[in-house]
Amino acid sequence: MYGGRRRIINARVANITEPLPGRLNCQFRNACWLGCPFGAYFSTQSSTLPAARATGRLVLRPWSIVTEVLYDRDRQRATGVQVMDALTEQVTEYSAPVIFLCASTLNSTWLLMRSKPSGDIT
Ligand code: SF4
Repeated sequence: MYGGRRRIINARVANITEPLPGRLNCQFRNACWLGCPFGAYFSTQSSTLPAARATGRLVLRPWSIVTEVLYDRDRQRATGVQVMDALTEQVTEYSAPVIFLCASTLNSTWLLMRSKPSGDIT
């Protein structure tokens, strides 16, 4: 498809070209490394959190550290997460039908490796 040449996408390219509610189109000012104050490129802060807030059902839990993805061995499904409060060290479990693990490459891998019941890792 590319004539035998390799192509890579080495940077963000999900920049909007038309304004969306709460976001402006890309201003081409090369300030992306500052976190895009215009919300023009896709990020959690400019895209998914505002969309979640618009549902009226968003709860933000700062100082929360996910320590384990809860796993139901019988159903072979993740069922929730265990969270530790960084200030109080209180541990709470949350269940959900769908879990998005977006903790970056290394921490997502770390969480998955420590969450799988011992003996199940092959
Ligand atoms: S900071 Fe945002 S608006 Fe500015 S160039 Fe980067 S993506 Fe476009």
